[in-house]
Amino acid sequence: MKLFKLRGGVHPQGWKELASEREIRILPLPERLFVPLQQHVGAPAQPLVRVGEHVLKGQLIAASQGFISAAVHSPTSGRISAIGDYAAAHPSGLTAPTVTIASDGDDRWLDTDVPADPFLLTPEDIAARVGKAGIVGLGGATFPSAVKLNLSRKNNVHTLIINGGECEPYITCDDRLMREHASNIIEGVRLIRHAVGAVNVMVGIEENKPAALFAMQTAAAGTEVKVIAVPAMYPMGWDKQMIRALTGREVPADGRSADIGVLVHNVATAFAVRDAVRFGRPLVSRLVTVSGGAVAEPGNLMVPVGTLVETLFGYCGGFSSKPARLVLGGPMMGMELSTINVPVVKGTSGVLALTKGEIGREQASPCIRCSSCIRACPVGLLPLQMAAHIRAGDSAGAVSQGLKDCIACGCCSFVCPSHIPLVHYFNFAKGELMEQERGKLKQEATKKLADERIARIQRIEQERQAAAAKRKAAREARELAAKAGTV
Ligand code: SF4
Ligand code: SF4
Repeated sequence: MKLFKLRGGVHPQGWKELASEREIRILPLPERLFVPLQQHVGAPAQPLVRVGEHVLKGQLIAASQGFISAAVHSPTSGRISAIGDYAAAHPSGLTAPTVTIASDGDDRWLDTDVPADPFLLTPEDIAARVGKAGIVGLGGATFPSAVKLNLSRKNNVHTLIINGGECEPYITCDDRLMREHASNIIEGVRLIRHAVGAVNVMVGIEENKPAALFAMQTAAAGTEVKVIAVPAMYPMGWDKQMIRALTGREVPADGRSADIGVLVHNVATAFAVRDAVRFGRPLVSRLVTVSGGAVAEPGNLMVPVGTLVETLFGYCGGFSSKPARLVLGGPMMGMELSTINVPVVKGTSGVLALTKGEIGREQASPCIRCSSCIRACPVGLLPLQMAAHIRAGDSAGAVSQGLKDCIACGCCSFVCPSHIPLVHYFNFAKGELMEQERGKLKQEATKKLADERIARIQRIEQERQAAAAKRKAAREARELAAKAGTV
C-alpha cells in the first residue's frame, strides 16, 4: 500500500532490546491497590463505595461524571481500606483522591453480562459497554473511548486507524501484546469498526517490529482489517503522524481526527474493547514495560491498575545500579518521577529507571541557527523562534508562533547540536499559560459571584422598598377609611 510523506521526526536510540524479547508475565496480586479517581481526561469519577465495604473484581467503585469522564472499577476483590488523598503519578509529587483496596487474595470477579454474539449488538450498545467498562485511550492520551466512539458515529467517520506505532524508546508493551494476543486485538478492532461503521480499517505498525507485523497480518487474514508497515521513527505513535502516513490527510491544527472522517485507537485499547464487549470485563489491568539500564531484569508485566511502581521494580529484580532518573512512560514524552511510591494508572505504558549514561545531559551552548529543530518538528513549528520569545518573556509571541500546537515530543531538543533544552522552555511556558488561564477563569468566577451578590442585595432592597410602600399604602387607605367613618 502507498504510504504518504511524513513531516519531521527523529531516530533516537531505541533501547527496545532490553525488554522486547521478554514474554508477558503476570504480576502476582499485590496486597494493596491504590486506585486514583482521576485516570483520564475529563472530570474525576465520583466514589460509590464506603470504607470497610467488600468489593469484587470489576465492581464499579467510582462513577463517571458529566460528558467527558470515565468510570473506575475495583482491580481485585477485597475490602476498601481508605478513601482519600494518595501520592499521584505526577512529577509535582502532589496527591490525588484515591480509593485503597486491601486484597482478600481471591481475585474474584463480579458476574458480568456476556452477550451471545457481540457482533449482533447495536453500535450504540457497543459504545455503552465500552463506557461502562471505563476504557480510555491506552496509548497515553487517556481520552474516554466511548466518547470517541459516539462522536465518530455522529461525524460519519469512514476510516478507522489502529495505532501500533510504539515509537518511544524502551517501551515494548504494545509490541508484546501484538505478538502474543494478535487475534484478540483484531477482534477488538472489528468490534470498534462495527461500533462506528467505518469503511476502511487499517492497523499501522512500525517496520522495526517484524514479529508483531507478522502476528497481526496472520490474525487479520480474511478480515476487512489491513495491517500495514509504516516507517520506524519518532513520533510515529502520534495519531496525526500515523494519519498522515496512512491517508496523506492533515488534521486541522485545532481540530480532531473525526473532523476529517478518521478515528484512531491504540492497539491496547482495541484489546480492552474486546474484553469489555465480549466478556463484560472492565479495564482493571494493563500491560506495562519495566525497563532501563538500572533495572536488573527488564520485562513486560500485566498488572492491576493501582499497583505501586515500587512493586513493579521489585518484581523485576530491583535496581542493578542507582537510577539517575525515574520515568513514567517513555523518555521522550514521559514524566520524571520523584518517588516510586505512586500507582500505575490506566495510561501507564512503562516505568523506567535510567542510569547516568543513558541520560547524557550535556551543557547547552548558544544557538548556531542551523535550523535542525525546524526540520525535526513534526508539527511544522519554528522551535528556535518560540524559544527566543519565551526567553524574552514574550509568551504571547510564542503563542502566535504556535506554542499551543506543540505536542512536547522533544524532537527539536533531540536534534539540537547546541543541546538547548527547547522542549523544557515550551513545557514551562505552557504551564505558565495554563496558570494564567486558570487565574483568569478564577477572576471571572469571582466577578460573577460578586455581581450575583450585588444583584441579590439590590433585589432584596427593591423587595423591601416595595413591601414598605405597600404597607404605607394600606395604612393610608385604613386611615382614610377611618376618617370617612367618623365624618
Ligand atoms: S537546532 Fe538548536 S542550534 Fe540549531 S537552530 Fe534550532 S535551537 Fe538553534
Ligand atoms: S517539542 Fe514542540 S516544537 Fe519541539 S519538535 Fe515537538 S512539537 Fe515541535
